[in-house]
Amino acid sequence: MAKFGLLGGKLGHSLSPAIHELFFKYTGIEGSYELLETELEDLPKRMENLKQSFLGSNVTIPHKLHVMPLLDTITPEAQAIGAVNTIKFTDKGAFGYNTDYFGFSRMLAYNDIVVKGCVAAVLGSGGAARAVMKCLEDEGAAEIYLVTRKPEEVDQHFLEIAPGCKVIDYDALKELKGDLIVNCTPVGMYPKVGVAAVSPMVSASFEASVDLIYNPAKTLFLQQAEDAGKKAVNGLFMLVAQAVAAQEIWQDDKYSSDLIVRIMHELEEKI
Ligand code: NAP
Repeated sequence: MAKFGLLGGKLGHSLSPAIHELFFKYTGIEGSYELLETELEDLPKRMENLKQSFLGSNVTIPHKLHVMPLLDTITPEAQAIGAVNTIKFTDKGAFGYNTDYFGFSRMLAYNDIVVKGCVAAVLGSGGAARAVMKCLEDEGAAEIYLVTRKPEEVDQHFLEIAPGCKVIDYDALKELKGDLIVNCTPVGMYPKVGVAAVSPMVSASFEASVDLIYNPAKTLFLQQAEDAGKKAVNGLFMLVAQAVAAQEIWQDDKYSSDLIVRIMHELEEKI
């Protein structure tokens, strides 16, 4: 049976095994998916072991950056984002990918959110924002605003990911109108629900709001968008789509959005 897993630090609450087990159930593919908790100093040894017996692995905090020098090839988008969250082990070496990038892109497409020519604001300058910015840049957003609490401290790497992007603070955001606003902060996530990174007025200034958070299913950020009659999408589709994108890489196959939705609905009951 083909072996897959999740390489990371503390993994107790990960939904990845449930998602991949549902994938195996619905596709009929035989595979196992296990949690591979690994201390930073044990990462090189763990990677050597995985190369011998695993077909693929996901990677999460704190190893998304540290794993990169241990790989043979890294895709251009993962290189640009500066993080690998999926590895494929082959007899030609270990290949690194970033499937958050594909998961985000597929979520937008599935929800009929058009990136080409759009004005987009991205809240928060953490790891998730990098994949989101790269996707918006590659898919032709006309203007990208990175919204952060401290513009003067933003990692200059963002300007390489999206060269024309403007870095602004939350006050400047109040003056902006646009097509898409993406919450890449943890504000509003369970258990600290009932708070949003922006006011209802800001939410009403964007045609679509996307929250990468999936627990709760409807954050205050999304509620504000809905109250203003705007499109509101949570991060569950992206979470499942990035896992399915990893399987597409491992299985060298393509899977439908229907499969993502099927897994998503069953997962909703587990969250
Ligand atoms: P992170 O690195 O911990 O934080 C992201 C950024 O949020 C920070 O760099 C900070 O940016 C901003 N921030 C943090 N606390 C804040 C606060 N109290 N108020 C305002 N801004 C705050 O997180 P991440 O790994 O990028 O993930 C962000 C969110 O996306 C998490 O909720 C995560 O669960 C979710 N996520 C979902 C998926 C999915 O598949 N659906 C994938 C990845 C991540 P500034 O300092 O620039 O303000």
